[in-house]
Amino acid sequence: MEALFARTGLADLYEKVVQGERLSYDDGLRLYRTPELTAVGALANVVRERMNGDATYYVRNLHINYTNICNKLCKFCSFYAPPGDPRGYVLTPDDIVARLAEHRDHVIREIHMVAGINPKLPYQYYLDILRSVRAARPEAQIKAFTMIELAQIARAAKKPLGDVLEDLKGAGLACVPGGGAEVFSDRVHEELFRAKLDNEGWFQVAREVHRAGLRSNATMLYGHIETVEEKVKHLLHIRELQDETKGFQCFVPLAFDPARTELEHIPVTTGQQNLREIAIARLLLDNFPHIKAFWIMITPQIAQLALWYGADDLDGTVSHYEITHALGTASHHQALSHQELLDLISEAGRVPVERDALYNVIPEQLAVGGQQSAKGSVSLRVLSSSS
Ligand code: SF4
Repeated sequence: MEALFARTGLADLYEKVVQGERLSYDDGLRLYRTPELTAVGALANVVRERMNGDATYYVRNLHINYTNICNKLCKFCSFYAPPGDPRGYVLTPDDIVARLAEHRDHVIREIHMVAGINPKLPYQYYLDILRSVRAARPEAQIKAFTMIELAQIARAAKKPLGDVLEDLKGAGLACVPGGGAEVFSDRVHEELFRAKLDNEGWFQVAREVHRAGLRSNATMLYGHIETVEEKVKHLLHIRELQDETKGFQCFVPLAFDPARTELEHIPVTTGQQNLREIAIARLLLDNFPHIKAFWIMITPQIAQLALWYGADDLDGTVSHYEITHALGTASHHQALSHQELLDLISEAGRVPVERDALYNVIPEQLAVGGQQSAKGSVSLRVLSSSS
């Protein structure tokens, strides 16, 4: 191992990582710029194994996107319909309950709800959908609302966010997915998502969420117009906030999918890029317990490799996942059964560990019983970049 790092000029970073020393901004830039991806991955693997051993976490989850109507018009988004567009939809609480009923025979431990920023939805709507989901699937935990949605919900409530979070918790909210961060750069914000909450706003909401006792994830959307410097700053900002609140559970690097967005001219991310983002996140975010390889966006094959590049979480085990682009004009499907996911993890030499939305480990017996009843397909819609 030492020889690899000496040969690649990363011996000093290896020493820091082995000593548990925090990596700096300049270290982050070097990790992005070195051509030695294998060495970057090996460094990340040192941290991954120190923190999580061989464990690879997954959860059986169901995604619900309750509305695609959104007034934020982000250039990287293929999901939204602007207000007034006939293609817009809003799921009523009954629609959501009906969708859950389609999956009554499946084990679901987490229900993940995110959507567009629909200014017409009243505060009561958000409470109603939470209560309906909780009543329909009381055993599942509800992970819902990006920081952007939470800001909108507080606006609709005309109440302080802290009070709103208490209401949402009372209605069933268990944790928060943390999306909408994109890249913390004023330049990127101005160019790609200027109508949306700015960087400081995202941090303020995240602070409130954690202060309310809710855990969240954090994300970074990469592969569009961002620079290496902006990505390192993004990661270090998130790390600072985690030092302050300790409220983040997991970091999720999100690969940008340009299909049918205003940025369609940008090439899709490569396997090399995807592995590097995961590895660098693992190395810089030394205070994050988990790093996710979101297989739906980067393919199961790359996600499997990522288990040796810093990732210890593969997201959900749903056996049929649909990503719908541009309001249903086209879609592609990725299928991965529960058993295939378990095999993927095991074949990589890692140990599958079923968890709930809060990273509580599911006892093995329950996990096996659930596996038997998880046959069949689960059809989902998901934002290519949620809120
Ligand atoms: S990314 Fe989210 S906030 Fe932006 S347009 Fe799409 S749905 Fe709206």
